[in-house]
Amino acid sequence: MPGFEWFGDEERKEVQDVLDTGVLFRYGFDGARKGHWKARTFEEELAKRLGAGFAHLCSSGTAALSIALAACGVGAGDEVIVPPFTFVASVEALLTAGVIPVFAEIDETLCLDPLSVLAAITPQTRAIMPVHMCGAMARIEELKTICDENNLVLIEDACQSLGASCQGRSAGTFGHAGCFSFDPVKTVTCGEGGAVVTSDQMIYFNAQAYADHGHDHVGADRGIEGHPFLGMNYRISELNAAVGVAQLRKLDVILARQRAHKQILKQALASYPNVSFRVIPDEAGDSATFLSFFLEDADHARQVARDLGAAGMDGCFYWYDNNWHYLRKWDHFKQLKSLSNLPFHLQTAYPDYSRVHLPQSDHIMSRTLSLQIKLSWTPEMLEKRVGIIEKVMNDRR
Ligand SMILES: *Cc1c(COP(=O)(O)O)cnc(C)c1O
Repeated sequence: MPGFEWFGDEERKEVQDVLDTGVLFRYGFDGARKGHWKARTFEEELAKRLGAGFAHLCSSGTAALSIALAACGVGAGDEVIVPPFTFVASVEALLTAGVIPVFAEIDETLCLDPLSVLAAITPQTRAIMPVHMCGAMARIEELKTICDENNLVLIEDACQSLGASCQGRSAGTFGHAGCFSFDPVKTVTCGEGGAVVTSDQMIYFNAQAYADHGHDHVGADRGIEGHPFLGMNYRISELNAAVGVAQLRKLDVILARQRAHKQILKQALASYPNVSFRVIPDEAGDSATFLSFFLEDADHARQVARDLGAAGMDGCFYWYDNNWHYLRKWDHFKQLKSLSNLPFHLQTAYPDYSRVHLPQSDHIMSRTLSLQIKLSWTPEMLEKRVGIIEKVMNDRR
């Protein structure tokens, strides 16, 4: 999965360009920067690679979600439908904006179930935020149709799925805005970083201004630029952007390697009748950062996870028991524990999240294991992993 596995001379060269000029700021200093615009270069190349009209690079994936919500006019008191299987950052961005998260079920895609989303729509619903988990996409076309028919904003959390696609169209480009993360464990890394992509010029204008205190970035003098609205500081530094420029250029090689490695592990599991695989609406568009599969029940899944770990398989995730990726264990969230009142705390009765009941998601997540796909595996390491899978699965038939 992580781009940090392939890190070296290309990244060093891009960072050295920045160090040679001493210009760490992404805006201005036109003379001193000797033609190096790393954030801008990254944005142009990302937009082109994804087939999006515009991209704005920012400080993190979480920041990208906050920016996308603001840029699309989603805010305090609005309801946004999200899945319970996601990194907790998706929900943090909603709460920080004063949005009320509403959970719908996931299905065997490990992403939002369109039928459950339909049932969760209320007059307060403003947006749907599918999360393309573990490298592959949600049923995005159905979700987009629901948004179109109900006049809802569609914001894709594609933080984990750079390079995934559906029918040739990139993750992040179906909705009004798509969000990516370039944190240290994502497919491509900036060290820390994120991006919002969109093909809507107004949303792009809002996003790039909101991420920089509302600066409109019109004219040559930053000191007298206009501020059409308030914003925040979610800027990236040129140093982080430089790392990303080198990383992004490796994306297609990374994807090819991940897909090849995943195929070998998948074959090893495919012969066991008590194993079934995550449903991926367009298999050809899988970015292949994980191999996710279902076992018979929670006991079986826990036992297989334990056995795989004991046999030396690293990167095996049983999300159901993990603190960060599934609502079940988010006690701090269920109690809405913040350091002060949440933005909408006094005005709105949030639902009692400790009572949210998602039996379909529990049924799926309690049986799901995901194996992380690494870039740096040698053929010998892959063979060893296949051996571990066969031994554990034969013992636990
Ligand atoms: C990583 C991640 C984020 C947050 O990205 P950061 O860059 O770490 O802030 C948001 N959503 C999902 C699904 C993620 O995996």
